[in-house]
Amino acid sequence: MNTDYLIIGQGVCGTFLSYYLQKEGKSVIVIDDAKPDSPSRVAAGIINPVTGRRLVTVWMVDEVLPYAWKAYSELGADLSVQAISQKNIIDFFPNPFMREGFLQKIETGDKYVHPYPEQNHFNNYFNFEFGCGEIRPVYTAHLESIIPAWRSIIAKADFLREEHFDISQLQVEPDKIHYRDITASKIIFCDGAASFDNPYFKQLPFAPNKGEALIAEIPGLPDHNIYKKSLLLVPLAEKDLFWVGASYVWKFDDASPTQAFRDSTENSLKSWLKIPYRILEHRSALRPATLERRPFVGTHPQFPSVGILNGMGTKGCSLGPYFAKQLTDYLLYDLPIAKDADVKRFEKVLSRR
Ligand SMILES: Cc1cc2nc3c(=O)[nH]c(=O)nc-3n(C[C@H](O)[C@H](O)[C@H](O)COP(=O)(O)OP(=O)(O)OC[C@H]3O[C@@H](n4cnc5c(N)ncnc54)[C@H](O)[C@@H]3O)c2cc1C
Repeated sequence: MNTDYLIIGQGVCGTFLSYYLQKEGKSVIVIDDAKPDSPSRVAAGIINPVTGRRLVTVWMVDEVLPYAWKAYSELGADLSVQAISQKNIIDFFPNPFMREGFLQKIETGDKYVHPYPEQNHFNNYFNFEFGCGEIRPVYTAHLESIIPAWRSIIAKADFLREEHFDISQLQVEPDKIHYRDITASKIIFCDGAASFDNPYFKQLPFAPNKGEALIAEIPGLPDHNIYKKSLLLVPLAEKDLFWVGASYVWKFDDASPTQAFRDSTENSLKSWLKIPYRILEHRSALRPATLERRPFVGTHPQFPSVGILNGMGTKGCSLGPYFAKQLTDYLLYDLPIAKDADVKRFEKVLSRR
């Protein structure tokens, strides 16, 4: 079988890349084994303009934030699902220093950090002693709706193979690749953490980061906002369900959920929430993070028929669609990929195979 592009992985990156290539009239086959612990199936979907305790402005925010809204809205319209919602963050200050830091950020005129005038609005739901502020706009991408919806479309069209990709079966030539019965002009790896062992890309400075989250039922908690106080509480599409997380762990034994995370998260929830909740699930995954916190996008400097869209780290929901579009425009129209993201910056490292 001949195809223009063979894509490995249907997380957020593989979904958007296959969607864009197909929209441009290219033929695509996607191979995905739907690992339940892949980060695209564990993520909260938050797309925020500032990040961390110090409210640092996110890399490329002015391009990436509006692009995410547009990209998810378009994909959602094509799939007939709600793909993105605006859910601003109510940031409850855990101590006076964090409150001070937030207020100072407002004074600098930051366009994403705002006072929250109704300080008593959440008194019935949360314990908080030091007030709250608002981060806006913040979006949530509904990966739990988009990924299965796109999967069912490509499955019906016979573009999807629900199986494990075995790299030992891959043969690479300068202008095409062969994999079992498939011949493609290019293969693009969107396989997340699996790329850490990929012989073509394993020299890249990946820095896997483990993240855990709980799914909780919290009846009666309004779902208009994301709530933050050390933890994040993110409303999910299903009524009364919230995503609670997450951890960021650089040293770990394996990717499975830990009792320590569950205990500490439940303790924090108990002291923060005034209303009852019930834990339904505990999820865990490895984020495909990178040492420089920048993605890997483009084709291999030595093997032009092999490409990559990976290294999205903690920001796959916003960077995934943006760089899927850049990669599409690069492959089809030879348009440039952002320098900080282009995998060609590792030409030397990738030459040492
Ligand atoms: C707890 C947690 C919370 C997060 N929250 C957010 C958030 O709120 N906002 C945000 O922007 N990001 C968040 N992230 C990060 C985000 O999830 C990732 O950046 C993003 O999902 C990476 O997507 P991807 O498509 O590159 O990889 P993946 O999601 O890993 O997808 C790769 C796909 O490839 C498939 N695959 C791999 N190897 C093979 C093979 N050999 N054969 C066949 N199929 C294969 C897998 O099954 C999978 O479906 C979070 C991550 C975690 C762990």
